[in-house]
Parts: sequence; structure tokens; C-alpha cells
Amino acid sequence: MLKAGIVGLPNVGKSTLFNALVANAKADAANFPFCTIEPNVGVVSVPDERLTVLAELSQSDKVVPTRMEFVDIAGLVKGASQGEGLGNQFLANIREVDAIVHVVRCFDDDDIIHVSGSVDPARDIEVINLELALADLSQMEKRLERVQKQVKGKKEGQEEIVALEKIIAALNEGTGARHVELSKEEEVLIKPLGLLTRKPIIYAANVSEDDLATGNDWVEEVRKIAEADNAKVVIVSAQVESELIEISEEEKADYLDALGVKEGGLQSLIKATYELLGLRTYLTTGPQETRAWTIFAGMKAPQAAGVIHTDFERGFIRAETISYEDLVACKTMTVAKEKGLVRSEGKDYVVKEGDVMLFRFNV
Ligand code: GDP
Repeated sequence: MLKAGIVGLPNVGKSTLFNALVANAKADAANFPFCTIEPNVGVVSVPDERLTVLAELSQSDKVVPTRMEFVDIAGLVKGASQGEGLGNQFLANIREVDAIVHVVRCFDDDDIIHVSGSVDPARDIEVINLELALADLSQMEKRLERVQKQVKGKKEGQEEIVALEKIIAALNEGTGARHVELSKEEEVLIKPLGLLTRKPIIYAANVSEDDLATGNDWVEEVRKIAEADNAKVVIVSAQVESELIEISEEEKADYLDALGVKEGGLQSLIKATYELLGLRTYLTTGPQETRAWTIFAGMKAPQAAGVIHTDFERGFIRAETISYEDLVACKTMTVAKEKGLVRSEGKDYVVKEGDVMLFRFNV
């Protein structure tokens, strides 16, 4: 399962947000009896309105959303790359994640100490990004040294040196590795190094409940920085999310209404992170259950079937496929078939976002 790591300075609201994620995950743990819950890992459901619509059409007993993982990576402070705070342990954890959610404090509260004395998103973002860049730089320099020794006097292995040098130059100039253009071959060589500043990033601007509907000047600051980095910003309120855990469904609706919002931002954050990871969803539906399945962009029908069960991939014959929109327009598979909208796709079919699929396979 793909993982997103939550980072940010101390006291910006990471744990509060993470606890809300975990509470959501626990709420639907019934759907996933075999999942173990680790203290700093939260497996969350990806919200998808299409599931409810399909479940109604199919009269499904159960709706099962797809999931992704969030990891709470505590302890990034100034000097982490030099071994301050949790330092290297922190950096090892973060290298394993597929995307980064960077929580930025955009709320004012005299009772909550800010590690640098005042609320200043631009400075905070710089502190974290600098630590990440320094960590990358020291790792890349070590790697370069090692590779140079290994390939001395040989023809092979020069490509990695070229790629490493490009990245080191960018990091020295203060540009994250994500801005370095690499060839496909170079990308393959660099990928296992888990460069922190090459991971896709989302900024979660944590605001107080009063600013959730409107945002504030700090959020705008975050937006400007994110834009320059081609990154997305999601407004969340950890405070609101932590309230929501405590109250009944009815109270929730009233509370959110009073704030002028539909949610506390957590659902949007999950969705945006899922998209950031380049993930796609296909759907299955029937009287038993309506369910969403995660695949990578470009996956073909047999591999997509393998996400459900390896037998489906091994014995794959074909897939009856219809787009979600077509199925909803026709209401039933029978009507869709009459209209010729259900396609029989073979092993080379590239599954599309929102395909509703029924796999035929040999056992
Ligand atoms: P972390 O160190 O980044 O994990 O931060 P925490 O989640 O522990 O939050 C630090 C403190 O800030 C806690 O007392 C939270 O209740 C509080 N806090 C988090 N988000 C908000 C917010 O949006 N508004 C206000 N007023 N307090 C918040």
C-alpha cells in the first residue's frame, strides 16, 4: 500500500490531524479485519461519492472504499539533518514514503507555543525544506563518492555520476531535487535513493475553526510558496477534526453548518494525497458489495484484476467493462448491454479511472 508521510515543525498540529485520521480508520476497521494498526501508521479510506451511487443501483449490502496509509513522522526540527532531535531515524522513516504531507501552522493561539516564537508559514516551510535538502545533499555526496570509487577506470556506471552531479548542483543552489530534469534511465538509477526533495508534496495549511471556510493571510502565503513548487495546498483544521471525532453524526452536521463548511478538511486532504500519488480507482459492484480498488495509472486489465486476487490475474480471460458515467446513465447492466455500452476487454486493455469491471477468469 502506498504511504504518505506527515511532516512539519513541532506544535503545528500534526498529531492532532493524525489522530483524526486514525479515528476515521478505526471507524471502518470492521471492513478490514486483517489490518494491523501501528501507533504511527493510519490506514484511511479514500472518500468516493461514486460508491454510494453504485451501491444504490446494485442494492449492495456493503460499500468498501479503497485505502491508503499515512505515517506520522514526528521530530523534524532545525538541525535534523545534522542529527538534532530524532535526526537520522526521522530521515530514514521519511525516505520510505511515496509522498509528503507538510503541515504548516496557520493558526494563532497564545496558549500553544510556536517553536520559533511566532506564526510565520514562509519561515517554517523554509526550515523544513532546508533540512530535507541538506539531508539529500549529504546523502548524495556520500553516494557520489562511493560510485566514483566503484567505477574508476570502467566504462559502465558513468550515468549515475552524471545524474548525481546534476542533483548535487541543484541542491547547492537551494533548489529541491524535484526540479532537476532526469532521463528515464537516470530516474531509474536515482529512485532507490529515496530523495526527500524529489517526493511529491502537499501543503496542509492548518487553520483555526473560524478560518476554515475563508482561509487567511497565512494560507495565502503558503499558496504562493506552493505555486512556485507546483505543489497543492489543502486547508484543514486539526482543531475541527478533533472535535468531530467526539460528537454524534447529528451534532456534526450542525457544527459544520455553523462553520459554513462541509468538512474539516481531512477528507479533502486524503483525496488530494491519493491523486498526488498518481493513483487510479476502478470499481466493482453487485448485490454483495460495491467496492473501489486502487491501481497505478497505465495498469492493464490482468494486473488490475490481480489487485483483487492473484488468481484473477493468473486465470484472466477478459473483463466486462463500462465507464461509471455510462452505467449511472443506464441504471442497470442489462440496459447498458442492450445499448452496447458494456465492452469485453482483453489482456492489453489499459484500465481507466472510474471503469466498472467484472472479471472473467479460469480457476
Ligand atoms: P504537533 O507537535 O505538530 O504534532 O502538534 P499537536 O498536534 O500536538 O498540536 C499542538 C497543540 O496545538 C495541541 O495542543 C493542539 O490541540 C493545538 N492545535 C492543533 N491544531 C490547532 C488549531 O487549528 N487551532 C488551535 N487553536 N490549536 C491547535
